[in-house]
Amino acid sequence: MAYTALYREWRPQSFSEVVGQHHISRTLLNALKHDQVSHAYLFSGPRGTGKTTVAKLLAKAVNCLAAPGDRPCNACPACNSITAGVSVDVQEMDAASNRGIDEIRDLRDRVRYLPVEYRKKVYIIDEVHMLTEPAFNALLKTLEEPPKHVLFILATTEPHKLPATIVSRCQRFDFHRLDIKLITDRLQQVVQARGANVTPAALWTMAKASEGAMRDALSLLDQCLAMGAGVVDVGEVQGMLGQAGEDAFEDICRALVDRDLGRLVRRLEAITAAGQDWRQLTLGLSQYLRDILLVKLCGAEAPVDAHDPARLDVLGHFAQALPESQLYQALETLAGVEEAIRRTGRGRLLLELALIKLAAPVFPGEGVPVPPPEVAQDREVPKAPIPTGGTPPRETPPSVRPARDDLQCKWEAVMDRLKKSRQMSVHATLQPVRVAWGEDENLQLVYAREYDFHKSRMEQDAACHRVLEAALREVFGRPVTFKISGEEGMQAPAGSCDPKADPVVKLALELFDGEIIKGT
Ligand SMILES: [Zn+2]
Repeated sequence: MAYTALYREWRPQSFSEVVGQHHISRTLLNALKHDQVSHAYLFSGPRGTGKTTVAKLLAKAVNCLAAPGDRPCNACPACNSITAGVSVDVQEMDAASNRGIDEIRDLRDRVRYLPVEYRKKVYIIDEVHMLTEPAFNALLKTLEEPPKHVLFILATTEPHKLPATIVSRCQRFDFHRLDIKLITDRLQQVVQARGANVTPAALWTMAKASEGAMRDALSLLDQCLAMGAGVVDVGEVQGMLGQAGEDAFEDICRALVDRDLGRLVRRLEAITAAGQDWRQLTLGLSQYLRDILLVKLCGAEAPVDAHDPARLDVLGHFAQALPESQLYQALETLAGVEEAIRRTGRGRLLLELALIKLAAPVFPGEGVPVPPPEVAQDREVPKAPIPTGGTPPRETPPSVRPARDDLQCKWEAVMDRLKKSRQMSVHATLQPVRVAWGEDENLQLVYAREYDFHKSRMEQDAACHRVLEAALREVFGRPVTFKISGEEGMQAPAGSCDPKADPVVKLALELFDGEIIKGT
């Protein structure tokens, strides 16, 4: 017996089996029950969401010989011949390959004749937006004066390309992308019926990759099951999809948090060795960062995929460690990279440069406060190794201390502590402050001119000082002295503005054997 693809084998045979499109099933069942089926329907929605399936169900239901409430019965001759695709009264047409006026004229001529076997002639026109303009005009004439015995079902993934005159003649249904959970459940059903062994994480990965299209998800499962007996786990699915696993995203995020270029480059090297698809990797990483951002903004209520509670923990950890601004910046950058990869196909270089830039430490001269001397020492510019195809990086750059964010995080912790210990007036006085390290290892509390009132209160109130000193000691684990200043008293950041210090510029210079020239 010939092999039947899973998506055909598991194609719903009744409206109640249709997954995730209840708004459509319910309306159609109601119309069938009350004999109010329209003469033309427009099914729009993404591919693989059930448009053709529902069209065939409707074709069966209007011709089924059972009582109105039970259609389609899947037992009568009408149902059987339509399911088998051999009824002359149900015609499927692909407008992508039959887009001309002749095909539609031919259809218009045939429409006049009564059905041969059953009650209604049903014309299912798939990808109807592909028709030419004359073909649309010919179709419109038929839709304007439809014979009683005809039912048109037009399906399209791009409804905006249809003339309004056509749309207005049809009853329109919008098919939705399916929820990842619904798809996973359906895949689970299939796996159980097959007696196959596929891990939940593997099913979830397939469901996710299908982007809401059940047909794609079932095709993926088909491919996986074809790989042979034994357990199918998430690694195999990712291998099949050319996807990097979430452990890769985790590793990259860790490198972003620690600003650890060595870890980053090593991971990218491993990804290259595994032959993964760079665009998929970029998309996957964007998705992962988006999930982190959502967890940061919405906490436990974040609408992220949480098939595994441990995943939520990891996301939560990154949500705490990565500042919102860095997440936005990363997402914007990756969107640009994805677009550029599509255009140029130079995935590795583009993604590598972008990630190095995102993970690179913040340097003096970029308008960022200067750290005390001992911190500056271990913040030397790392020599970014340039991996070449297949060979490991020549050397691993040292891990780099996150200068600005470290201080910023600690300052936020200080403010938090003040709030928790109900030192509200000290907290309020310090609210407008910008913090920076002074060259003499003092913590500078900088007030903008409009906060002179806060500044003078902070300068004069000894009790305020004591409270702040205690909070600083607790957070930094050592006594920290501080100085209060206005903006004009801010020490200028030391260090060079040498563009060669930027690791991306450095990398680009080395890659292209170039030199820096000044722009005009
Ligand atoms: Zn029937």
